[in-house]
Amino acid sequence: MTKINENFLKLKASYLFADIARRVSEFQAANPDRPILKLGIGDVTEPLPDTVLKAFHDGIDEMADRNTFRGYGPEQGYPFLREAIAAVDFQSRGAPISADEVFVSDGAKCDSGNVQEIFADDCRIAVPDPVYPVYVDTNVMAGRTGANVNDRYEGLVYLECTPENNYFPSLPSTPVDVIYLCFPNNPTGATATKEQLEAFVNYARENKAIILYDAAYVAFIRDESLPQSIYEIEGADEVAIEFRSLSKNAGFTGTRCAYTIVPKKLKGVDSSGEEIGLHALWSRRHSTKFNGTSYPVQKAAAAVFTPEGQAETRALTDFYLNNAKHIREKVQALGLSCVGGDNSPYIWINMATDSWDAFDMLLNKAGVVCTPGAGFGTCGEGHIRLSAFNSYENVVEAMDRIAEAL
Ligand code: PLP
Repeated sequence: MTKINENFLKLKASYLFADIARRVSEFQAANPDRPILKLGIGDVTEPLPDTVLKAFHDGIDEMADRNTFRGYGPEQGYPFLREAIAAVDFQSRGAPISADEVFVSDGAKCDSGNVQEIFADDCRIAVPDPVYPVYVDTNVMAGRTGANVNDRYEGLVYLECTPENNYFPSLPSTPVDVIYLCFPNNPTGATATKEQLEAFVNYARENKAIILYDAAYVAFIRDESLPQSIYEIEGADEVAIEFRSLSKNAGFTGTRCAYTIVPKKLKGVDSSGEEIGLHALWSRRHSTKFNGTSYPVQKAAAAVFTPEGQAETRALTDFYLNNAKHIREKVQALGLSCVGGDNSPYIWINMATDSWDAFDMLLNKAGVVCTPGAGFGTCGEGHIRLSAFNSYENVVEAMDRIAEAL
């Protein structure tokens, strides 16, 4: 019989969302008259902005005419989109990124999961705890870890984000080659200041490590003093890959468009000690395994970077941020401590109790679904995540119910 990749057997089954769904359906069966409000969801609810929709339709119309029809496009994305991304997201903020360093894809989940393929099997990996599970599971699949013992994989370095460090990880205390960071963070909603990112960039430069920087929620940053891209930090283009996505930033979760920045200055080393550019490796990987994002989607994506598109997507994120503000204010008024919700759609609440107990209590007493923090790592214990992706009315009602329940 054909042997399987046994690394997959090490994966801790992700019970999180299945467990949530089971508890919710049990509650619904027992309480058919009590409507449930879901603040656990990490998916957008509002339609695509008008400018984006028009460009999407135009792209489809072009596919209907032999003269404008497009077949396979460039795997890295159409130049019109790569140029718009480089100019608007990076150059306008003084970040030295050019269009040929932008790789357009259909998701930051795939890119942040696939990127580990360009690193050696024995690279030492650091991940935040709590963590977006994709970073961990893809390294487990690739065989870079041992077994899962007490909710942690042997061989991984966990950078703890706790109330004590205000949910910002400290630098690795043992040597690592690759560091995953995510700001604004999922699940905590915490952000990084320029000084905090500088510390990681300096660490990476001194220790010849690579930072994998996930900025999937960057459009929620309103505090102008916060960096939006890691490339706003001097020298980061020698040590960092950045992931971006239009999913949460522009309502593209169902439309699918993301992009990854691999600067040409970024280098790794082969076993003979020779420096090798990571741009060429990622380019090879991307064009071998990916055949490009669909043309109408790239047209729609390009519209995000026009002045109208920027204004409309800002209004979209303003809408969720208004929900987040309400959640944050209500949580604070209840005397609970929390992080996030000001420059992020997530609010991470310290419930000072078992996170599944907190989940059950909110479900049973308030009919509100949250996400238990323990599902994101051991440091998530004691916490829950509330999400601002919902209607304002639902958010207000959910918070009123929580206030009554506590
Ligand atoms: N990165 C983070 C931190 C996320 O939370 C998510 C989605 O939830 C993604 C990446 C995935 O984004 P995409 O929809 O582009 O695959």
